[in-house]
Amino acid sequence: MIGEASLQQEIPKNKDQQIIIVGGGPVGMGLAIELGQRGISSCIIERRIGTHRIPKGQNLMQRTLDHFYCWGIVDELRAARVMPVDYPIGGITTYGNLMSEYWYKPQQREAVKDYFFQANERLPQYCTEDVLRNKISTMVNIENYQGWRVTDVSQDKRQAQVFLINEEDGELRSLNAQYVVGCDGAHSVVRNSIGIQRSGSNFDQKMMLAVFRSKELHEGLKRFPEVSTYRAMFPESKGYWHFFGRIDVGEGWFFHAPVALDATTENYDFKALIQKAAGFEFKCEFDYVGFWDLQVAVAETYQSGRIFIAGDAAHSHPPYGGFGVNNGLEDARNLGWKLAAKLQGWGGEKLLASYSQERHPIFKETGEDFITARIEREGKFFEAYNPEKDLNAFLDAWEKKRVGTSKMATAYEPHYEGSSVIDGPPNGVNSAHGEHKLKARIGHHLAPLSLSSGRNVFEEIGNDFCLIALDGDDEIIKNMVEIADKMGIPFRVICDNQKDDREKFQARYILVRPDHYIVWKGKSSPKNIEGLFSKAIGK
Ligand SMILES: Cc1cc2nc3c(=O)[nH]c(=O)nc-3n(C[C@H](O)[C@H](O)[C@H](O)COP(=O)(O)OP(=O)(O)OC[C@H]3O[C@@H](n4cnc5c(N)ncnc54)[C@H](O)[C@@H]3O)c2cc1C
Repeated sequence: MIGEASLQQEIPKNKDQQIIIVGGGPVGMGLAIELGQRGISSCIIERRIGTHRIPKGQNLMQRTLDHFYCWGIVDELRAARVMPVDYPIGGITTYGNLMSEYWYKPQQREAVKDYFFQANERLPQYCTEDVLRNKISTMVNIENYQGWRVTDVSQDKRQAQVFLINEEDGELRSLNAQYVVGCDGAHSVVRNSIGIQRSGSNFDQKMMLAVFRSKELHEGLKRFPEVSTYRAMFPESKGYWHFFGRIDVGEGWFFHAPVALDATTENYDFKALIQKAAGFEFKCEFDYVGFWDLQVAVAETYQSGRIFIAGDAAHSHPPYGGFGVNNGLEDARNLGWKLAAKLQGWGGEKLLASYSQERHPIFKETGEDFITARIEREGKFFEAYNPEKDLNAFLDAWEKKRVGTSKMATAYEPHYEGSSVIDGPPNGVNSAHGEHKLKARIGHHLAPLSLSSGRNVFEEIGNDFCLIALDGDDEIIKNMVEIADKMGIPFRVICDNQKDDREKFQARYILVRPDHYIVWKGKSSPKNIEGLFSKAIGK
């Protein structure tokens, strides 16, 4: 790779870009759309020419659907669903194989549905990627380099540079941009080029992933209520899952489970493992079989000068809990408006620095508390409880475990109370742990309450800074609009009253930033409007 990049003197240069995005997976494409909608041109460099057919991140959380709404493609995403409309998204956990008499169906994302504008969704990641790709094909300010692999990145005070090679004919090129964002997945060349280290937990555990078709498996699971996923927990598996996920309803499945470190596609009996997890024999046809290593790895920072990383390049982990693609798209949403603000001249360097400051702790805690700790906790559970040894103790603990699983969905509430660009409480911290509330809270996501027009606040709020003024004073609103205008901040105001649904905000003025996190709220005018805005835009 270094050899390829060292030929840089001879490499033809293309026109300068505002942003280069390395990697055209879901996160790279989401970022390009976020930037493109804000009038920022970008270029996506993707080494693959065709599309992959592994369903991967299927569970899209409500917040992710809010992103798709803001990108104007939520209807397209829902139309791309493979399972029938309204087929439930929840999952079942069994003690041992799926024929076990001990199983539960915890409350999951439905527990937090009132706190987001859009309902959650489930579809194969390749379908989600198609929706993003189609949107990109309609946007004139996104250029695509498909079939080009990035080999190296560098930067100086004025710009960043990317070196790439055409995968087919070996042609070398270099591109310049104001900023580069590495959305190039877990083995990120961008992250490695700029020397960002990762930390986390390596479980030294190999996992297999299979995509297969079986009508008999579908028939055999009719004993359960309709769900999309099935998690068989074997006491000897140390908290690792044997996991079945529906791709469609009828025959499409994907499955992952722990295997021996020396397992290969040649020496391993995948069908036997899948049938053991299901607890019965069935016919199946494999479309794909592969392996991955179980590890949680989080980059120490998401920024080095003009170069950023996002998505799996910044945080990779097992698909336990559906945090992967959802967190990656949140990175894109967080970074996109900040880069646009800087390039348009109204955002400062501190705004760019706030990306890593806000997003890094969220995934660090997600990896440690919602993934690693869960594996360890479940491993200990199966060591401690066994229905054959002490049925009552087991049943009691099993019920507590069901309730605990439900609480995970409600306890996951990423917020930025400690951000330097949020007017948060003293000693506030940025954290993945929180409580969902309708009340407007500084540093937290805005709740989707109704306006007196009957429309939802999310239908009116737009993608810029927004002041929600409920029975607001005209003079205060006018001052804030004038100062935002003077500072070049794209700004809009929603005026309404404090009655009905709006009462639940428990606030008169709410300042919301472009990714719909609350920067400030108050009963009267901010003491120093310009100071507040300067903080919010990192100046
Ligand atoms: C087998 C598997 C199963 C998964 N299951 C789940 C799940 O059930 N739930 C869940 O939430 N998440 C799951 N994930 C994780 C989820 O798919 C990822 O979090 C998501 O794909 C991250 O998106 P991304 O755009 O950051 O990275 P990726 O999807 O990895 O995309 C990176 C892109 O960059 C391109 N690229 C890489 N290097 C270069 C280079 N040098 N030059 C140019 N292009 C480059 C790649 O070709 C790729 O298209 C799974 C992942 C895998 C691998």
